[in-house]
Amino acid sequence: MKNFELKHASSFEEAASMLADGAMILAGGTDMIYSMKGMHTPNLPDTLVAISEIPDADYIKEENGYIKIGALAKLSDIAADKTVLAKAPALAQAAKLVASPELRNMGTIGGNICQRPRCIYYRNEFDNWPCARKHKGGLCYAITGVHRYHSIFGGVGGCMAVCPSDTAVALVALGASIVTTKKTWSAVDFFKVPSKEFGTARGEQINAIDSDEVVKEIQIPSSGNEKSTYVKWAFRKAIDFPQCSAAVVIKGGKANIALGGVYNEPKYFEGVDIADPKAAGESVVAKATEISNEGDGSNSFDKLDHYSNGYKIDITKTIVKRAIISLK
Ligand SMILES: Cc1cc2nc3c(=O)[nH]c(=O)nc-3n(C[C@H](O)[C@H](O)[C@H](O)COP(=O)(O)OP(=O)(O)OC[C@H]3O[C@@H](n4cnc5c(N)ncnc54)[C@H](O)[C@@H]3O)c2cc1C
Repeated sequence: MKNFELKHASSFEEAASMLADGAMILAGGTDMIYSMKGMHTPNLPDTLVAISEIPDADYIKEENGYIKIGALAKLSDIAADKTVLAKAPALAQAAKLVASPELRNMGTIGGNICQRPRCIYYRNEFDNWPCARKHKGGLCYAITGVHRYHSIFGGVGGCMAVCPSDTAVALVALGASIVTTKKTWSAVDFFKVPSKEFGTARGEQINAIDSDEVVKEIQIPSSGNEKSTYVKWAFRKAIDFPQCSAAVVIKGGKANIALGGVYNEPKYFEGVDIADPKAAGESVVAKATEISNEGDGSNSFDKLDHYSNGYKIDITKTIVKRAIISLK
């Protein structure tokens, strides 16, 4: 395990001020400590700043037209919260499908949307394994190697790792905002992968925040998201990251759909026609085949076949169709 100094912050602002020299936040620790033990990256910090003692930061409340969730709210509490279940069910369902009860009891929503990629080429202790995220200008081995778990829509900056977070997908479809120590982000912008920073610690993030920026609160409009759901498909029923997932919100006869497990970021489609749920599923993955078969080859796979990541196309079509039918 990498040695580190542990500091404690009593507010999010104090935590942000302690993030100099590559220090990183420690919330529930389910991903951070795992990374420090696994030596997954050349950019591991010498200092961790614990935020678990910040008072009153694990709330879930309804206020001024929003469901407001403190960054330290546990995934298990979000999954069971009556307001979230009634007014943003897709988020409750996504939180309930993360990992296992133990991990949901420790894991926070802030940590869930700031975890690092789960790619097999990124998560290993060999610093010299090629990885577009870890090494500036590095080759992503998924393009020519095993890419069973990777993107079907190509990848930003030549990285084919997918967004590992279940709740990220629900937050994008629900039109959520994320409040940090610097600004309020729309969820869509928050999850933009910082590809210009590849080769640095910041480039390893699944979101666009600065390395000295700390998530404080999630806000979800408390009306209009009642007809929403999250469907996840993984190889195992428990303790497995999404290979394919879909968060669907139906508003005014159309659907806002975010896909998980199939791109670096939650792949978002607004105002999808749902008259024919099967056609809706086909329309959201249509682009994947186009990118795969007609891309310039620099950041896409030559061909999506069923034995590599092509299986994700059929499964995604089906889960989108099922999600829409369940809400109609
Ligand atoms: C076996 C296993 C299975 C898992 N399965 C899933 C799964 O199915 N789906 C899924 O989505 N996740 C899964 N996870 C990932 C992870 O455990 C969860 O995402 C969890 O919610 C992380 O929260 P945490 O509080 O433990 O974060 P930590 O481990 O403390 O932190 C995670 C990262 O976020 C940063 N961070 C934490 N809080 C903040 C903040 N407020 N502001 C800025 N940065 C912050 C940390 O610096 C670190 O980089 C799994 C993990 C394990 C070990």
